[in-house]
Amino acid sequence: MKRVCVFCGSSDGARPEYLAAARALGETLARRRLTLVYGGASVGLMGALADAALAAGGQVIGVIPATLDKKEIAHRGLSELHVVDSMHTRKRIMADKADAFIALPGGLGTLEELFEVLTWRLLGIHQKPAGLLDVGGYYQPLITFLESTITEGFLRKEQLQLHVAADADALLETLAHAPPVLVEKWLDRTQT
Ligand code: AMP
Repeated sequence: MKRVCVFCGSSDGARPEYLAAARALGETLARRRLTLVYGGASVGLMGALADAALAAGGQVIGVIPATLDKKEIAHRGLSELHVVDSMHTRKRIMADKADAFIALPGGLGTLEELFEVLTWRLLGIHQKPAGLLDVGGYYQPLITFLESTITEGFLRKEQLQLHVAADADALLETLAHAPPVLVEKWLDRTQT
């Protein structure tokens, strides 16, 4: 694992621990010599994450659509900044460049990005591991809901494979040793 894509809020969130966790993840990535791939913004948790990784000597690749360049204020101090034509291109490039995915707390954009990489994996488009950094229990309601998608028969346990940890080092350690995720939705359907 060399590059980790992080999805997170373009806002700071209501509790100071969210910003603190974004900074801690940025520092931890740099310390582990892992390149950060993210949405290229300078605001919210996104900006705090990138600033912390850069301050700790890490490499940071940002990917931002031209339309968001002003709203999210593209970070001008990154190792690489790709300004792309659309949100779809942004997500594809971020996913292609990364070896694993992490979601820090965030809003709809973060959730959409996380669910897209999980569904792409289910369709066999990639086999990369993914995890939630569950800061202050933020993701507990989502984890409970995802468990119900399994008990209610819409997903099989092995198809989810979403690692959860409250600590950046622990989550990165798990993702670094996670085997490729080979479960495909449609292959499974023929086995039942
Ligand atoms: P949020 O979690 O809503 O603060 O958004 C986090 C990041 O996701 C920001 O860079 C947003 O630009 C991005 N984002 C917002 N909406 C979408 C979307 N529909 N698809 C992909 N990314 C999005």
